[in-house]
Amino acid sequence: MSKLRVAELLAHLGRMTYGNGFVEDLTSAQWTALRYFSRANRFSRTPSAFAEFHGTTRGTASQTIKSLIAKRYLIQTRSETDGRSTLLELTGKARDTLSNDPFETLVEAVGALPSGARGLLANVLERMLGHVAMECGKRPFGMCTSCEHLGGDGCCQEGRLPYKCLFFNEPLNVAELGQLCINYEPSKASAMNRTFKGGGLDLSS
Ligand code: SF4
Repeated sequence: MSKLRVAELLAHLGRMTYGNGFVEDLTSAQWTALRYFSRANRFSRTPSAFAEFHGTTRGTASQTIKSLIAKRYLIQTRSETDGRSTLLELTGKARDTLSNDPFETLVEAVGALPSGARGLLANVLERMLGHVAMECGKRPFGMCTSCEHLGGDGCCQEGRLPYKCLFFNEPLNVAELGQLCINYEPSKASAMNRTFKGGGLDLSS
């Protein structure tokens, strides 16, 4: 198959998914923001991180966020680590709405693939995303599980959490390892890979 055809298929899949909005009184941009804030870690739930993720200006991202706050889908809270900055959190209404997310159609299509094909597809897409992000001067976004900055050995010692972000110098719990991060740095040999060669933890769902 030609590279143009594969690129067309990917772009069409993205358009179909992105255009599947205007459900529950939300636009496609507002759905994208809700999904982002449900998946982003505590270092990335900011308007500027969302603007980078969505590939839009801070002004446009800010308008989307303001509209979601006005509709009571998002609330602003103070950052625990930096009292000067604010973080955005989903409300209960947003979590209820996300259970009817039209994006689930794509999630189900991926879920119908055999697990080996899913892993292969994820590796290919991550590689392509990294390539396109580098060409466009954008951040790739990703998760701790394959990040250069992930430290720790996976063992709880003297009450300490088993993992640590070496970039933010903050402990990480297991639930945070599968969240999106603006400071993600791709690595072939993260602490997770070193400690759990062969997949000791399943963060795939
Ligand atoms: S380890 Fe990487 S992905 Fe995880 S919080 Fe730190 S910078 Fe972000």
